[in-house]
Amino acid sequence: MKIGINCGHTVSGQPGCGAVGLIDESVETRNVGYALMDIFKQNGHTVIDCTNDRASSTNANLAEICRLANNQSLDLFVSIHFNAGGGKGTEVYTYGGQRHTEAVAVCDKLHALGFINRGVKGSNLYVINHTNAKAMLIEVCFVDTQSDVDLYHKLGKDRIAAAIYEAITGQAAKSSETKKEENEVTRDEYNVLAAKVEKLENPMVYNFIDKNMPEWAIPTIQKLVNKGLLKGDEKGLALTDDLLRILVINDRAGLYD
Ligand SMILES: [Zn+2]
Repeated sequence: MKIGINCGHTVSGQPGCGAVGLIDESVETRNVGYALMDIFKQNGHTVIDCTNDRASSTNANLAEICRLANNQSLDLFVSIHFNAGGGKGTEVYTYGGQRHTEAVAVCDKLHALGFINRGVKGSNLYVINHTNAKAMLIEVCFVDTQSDVDLYHKLGKDRIAAAIYEAITGQAAKSSETKKEENEVTRDEYNVLAAKVEKLENPMVYNFIDKNMPEWAIPTIQKLVNKGLLKGDEKGLALTDDLLRILVINDRAGLYD
């Protein structure tokens, strides 16, 4: 999918920056937001970074975020925020409070990690109302509530980002550690290679005209044995695949008639 992700607010200390409590919203929106962008990229999605670090005012920041989001068509726009005001838990804002599958799932997945589920809500938030794509704003937890901050630190940004990814896509995130390196072979590829090496080191030898011998070779080999041209030794005919092929080609060319 093509997803626009916004790390909410400008950077800390700038006009338009986020709330500061026990943790700093501007810092944490970037921690979670960039982790989320990484996961989407690692799993093959197209990510548009809709973050605006510096602006002259809150309104300028919000307008720039929407401009970045509306530059292209997106399947989904997600803005990462942290709440303030002493509440507890996660809430998600959508246009008109629409209970999109993704929005409900974000609440459920973060609740499963231990945050109180405050649910999906409607709002007149600027980035929800002024982005063209389906949009949601995630308030991960409260920056000024000790139990929320403790849980946030215990989980870490990567687990929270992975939970949001899974909520949006319905799929488990392939982490960077489990992701296959380009020069690494999978177990299946290894088995195919191992079988090829085994065949090279122990080529099939056909000693008898029986069901082990390829059907296409039998008439030729039978003819050669009948004519006494092929005798083999006490162990048998000792024919390899390559030899079978050569004999059959010669037979087709009429050499044994
Ligand atoms: Zn915020």
